[in-house]
Amino acid sequence: MAFSLSLIGTFPVRRLEWQLAQVREIVVDTYRVKSLLLHVANWHGHLPGQHVDIRLTAEDGYQAQRSYSIASPPNDELLTLTVERVDNGEVSPYLVGDLRVGDQFELRGPIGGYFVWTAALRGPLCLIAGGSGVVPLMAMLRHRDRRKIRAPASLLYSSRSLEDSHLSSGARCNGVLRSQFACCQHVDPQTA
Ligand SMILES: Cc1cc2nc3c(=O)[nH]c(=O)nc-3n(C[C@H](O)[C@H](O)[C@H](O)COP(=O)(O)OP(=O)(O)OC[C@H]3O[C@@H](n4cnc5c(N)ncnc54)[C@H](O)[C@@H]3O)c2cc1C
Repeated sequence: MAFSLSLIGTFPVRRLEWQLAQVREIVVDTYRVKSLLLHVANWHGHLPGQHVDIRLTAEDGYQAQRSYSIASPPNDELLTLTVERVDNGEVSPYLVGDLRVGDQFELRGPIGGYFVWTAALRGPLCLIAGGSGVVPLMAMLRHRDRRKIRAPASLLYSSRSLEDSHLSSGARCNGVLRSQFACCQHVDPQTA
């Protein structure tokens, strides 16, 4: 995994303000994971590995705030968040189950500057994740793919079951699981 404090300097420091994100597309990745493709009018770009905060407001004014990693590489037209439904959770069941194309919610970011990787850092890359922790790594791998970086990359990924795996979806793997990339997936034999 690459860590770089110096990359913070590549973005001007901006005061993070809440802005509206509109759902343009929803991709079903697994039965409990969906990717939300969002249009954010004033998005100033991000680095692979960064995340956003989202804020939901109920009709009675009650608010809930959560963090989600950015799954899309820089320069994509739409910002992608990949959300796993947590049973009994407050926010993720709404995002995965209730949100529809055209809906809007508040978002601020990008956040985080030390857990990032860009093509400028080159490789090799050794990425290790479990569950939804793979989301920021997908942004890194997609970025590597778009920029045609040939430095070796490997991903060690663990999930409770194949159905829970964020790597199950063909769409998710497209453009990422290509040559010069090795992926090793561990599935918990207790729950698989
Ligand atoms: C930097 C960052 C990036 C993240 N990126 C992603 C991402 O890309 N994708 C993703 O899916 N998630 C991501 N997360 C996790 C995400 O922010 C949420 O925590 C997750 O979606 C669960 O939120 P929730 O509101 O559904 O669940 P919550 O309501 O927060 O509950 C989570 C669990 O805790 C239990 N719980 C809640 N309150 C209590 C309590 N008082 N006592 C005991 N148990 C309790 C609930 O039953 C539930 O099982 C990220 C988190 C961080 C910090």
